Amino acid sequence: HASTRPYNFSAGPACLPLPVLEQAAAEMCDWQGSGMGVMEMSHRGPQFGAILAQAERDLRALAGVPDEFAILFMQGGALAANALIPLNLAHRGRVDVAVTGSWSAKSADEAARYALVQRVVDTRAEGYLDIPAPDSWALRDDVDYVHLCSNETIDGVEFQDLPNLRALGCEAPLVVDCSSNQLSRRFDWSRIGLAFGGAQKNIGPAGLTLVYVRRDLLQPALAACPTAFSLERVARENSMFNTPPTYAIYIAGLVFAWGLQFRWNGLQGLEALEAHNRDKAALLYAALDDSNLFENRVSSAVRSRMNIPFFLREPGLTDTFLAQAAQATPVGLLQLKGHKSKGGCRASLYNAMPLAGVQALVDFMQDFERRHG
Ligand code: PLP
Repeated sequence: HASTRPYNFSAGPACLPLPVLEQAAAEMCDWQGSGMGVMEMSHRGPQFGAILAQAERDLRALAGVPDEFAILFMQGGALAANALIPLNLAHRGRVDVAVTGSWSAKSADEAARYALVQRVVDTRAEGYLDIPAPDSWALRDDVDYVHLCSNETIDGVEFQDLPNLRALGCEAPLVVDCSSNQLSRRFDWSRIGLAFGGAQKNIGPAGLTLVYVRRDLLQPALAACPTAFSLERVARENSMFNTPPTYAIYIAGLVFAWGLQFRWNGLQGLEALEAHNRDKAALLYAALDDSNLFENRVSSAVRSRMNIPFFLREPGLTDTFLAQAAQATPVGLLQLKGHKSKGGCRASLYNAMPLAGVQALVDFMQDFERRHG
């Protein structure tokens, strides 16, 4: 992390590893002696073909995605996926959704345009501060799939383990919106039927959407589904049904290669990223819990490692805190404003945020509390 670069706590699009940005800058006009920048290459040429194949191999290795899953590089973001998933999977027209935060609530509303949706749990009235145990959910046994959001980016609640639906007597596939915690921790793929996420948090530029789908779920989509959103068709065409977001895929590939080399406490790759994320989150939560001025209200068992909303007990100080944080020395602490639906503050600690950035935030908060507490 260059010492002059501010720490960027954006929830997304979010900070990327500096070596990735530097490599991309160096290769901007001429990728590996090809005489072309990646943006200027045909998606069907040999150079981009190699970039895509390497990106997929590295993502599969880094995230531990088994061969029985296809990995699709798509567009439209997670909100388009909220529609294309029922359009691909809801052949019986029945979907269960666990509403544990703002994003899964949106997913339930969108799926309801295409299927009969049951909210098997809904914690909205309690402010999305906890996740009731899955064995208390009202799961049905004849649904096309069960949807959940593994990490609620706005509310800061995260599943520490994905539910094992089969053990709960439900044979339907589990669909997971992992937009904001993919590549931050190990997932038990044996519990997943389909996972999806926008790239713009842990992976790369907005415009790329990752879809991990168990191959036995690939089947012709409902007639209303746009062909470009047919998972079976996109998988058959190796993410080349139409022009994929080539530059975003290239940057994502650099991030995957960075992740495979990432080291922390004697670990490497995803284990190292997960341990690093655990350490970063523990540091910030400890500071929040020790403070008389700042607080996080999420139930401790389901606190997110990626997105940490926090509030000042004197809300009138929030704007002062945010303005002074951006001007902090030696480097600024940027984009700490909470989501507009919640107010307050939020620190997103994605993979590219170093522990030193979280320490700088904690030091600043303690200094602010001494001056204003
Ligand atoms: N789901 C989650 C968990 C998110 O964090 C976001 C964030 O932006 C979305 C869905 C919406 O994604 P997109 O803007 O890529 O459609």
